[in-house]
Amino acid sequence: MGTEAGGPPDSTSQGESARPDRIARGESPAPGALLSVEAVRAGYGGIVALWDVSFSVAEGQVVTLLGSNGAGKTTTLRTVSGLLQAVSGRIAFDGREISHARTDQIVELGIVHVPEGRQLWPRMSVRENLELGAYLPRAKARRAESLERVFGLFPRLRERRNQAAGTLSGGERQMCALARGLMGLPRLLMLDEPSLGLAPRLVSEMFDSLRLLRAEGLTVLLVEQNVHQALELADVGYVLETGRIVLSGPSTELLASPLVRSAYLGVAS
Ligand code: ATP
Repeated sequence: MGTEAGGPPDSTSQGESARPDRIARGESPAPGALLSVEAVRAGYGGIVALWDVSFSVAEGQVVTLLGSNGAGKTTTLRTVSGLLQAVSGRIAFDGREISHARTDQIVELGIVHVPEGRQLWPRMSVRENLELGAYLPRAKARRAESLERVFGLFPRLRERRNQAAGTLSGGERQMCALARGLMGLPRLLMLDEPSLGLAPRLVSEMFDSLRLLRAEGLTVLLVEQNVHQALELADVGYVLETGRIVLSGPSTELLASPLVRSAYLGVAS
């Protein structure tokens, strides 16, 4: 993948296409939403992975996209960040249509995507990896301040700042990827499975960090398979099944819903 600020280059997948240089201005279709995704259909070549998916994220909200493997969660993030071109539908950010914008333009607007799998530069130090996250002028001007902020959030990264990123543990790499995303000063942070592959203690630490970011007012779109923790953190959740949103609502309601409880939390109804 690799849309995150400063991430290593990535190969393109089948069906991805370069986007024309275009960001349209206009009214957001969902008033008040920072991100608005309306009836977006997208896929890979002839395979449709998202069937008219709609959801929105308001400023300061944490929204989680849930669903099992292959449901279309990653595809949704890739389509928002411009790596995949939607076949139809509309994506708007802060009132501007970005459906046909390029990834670099989307990053410049403040959408930072931290992909699954960390994708750090393994031979570079932790600090260098973090600094690469602040490559845009707006973020570069505040790089030292941002570095202090992320070292405050993740003291272990401060301790390891001169260590090659490739030698970090899985949990530390995930923290580093999240911290690098924060270095880009996101207006919307999109996280793809930040707890994937982490030991339970580290999953808790990761969610503690996300709670701190939430308290700071950061707007987050979170893809997670850790359904319980994600819903406890988020304001709103959407459940995707084979490319369609089958359920959505306030997290407290989803936590109580029979579908979520039986299919995702393993609770017999
Ligand atoms: P996971 O948690 O397993 O990543 P997901 O919900 O993120 O699941 P996606 O990765 O978005 O699911 O995949 C949605 C569908 O698109 C799946 O059927 C998958 O096989 C297909 N798909 C994903 N990437 C590609 C690709 N590069 N080329 C072709 N098909 C793809």
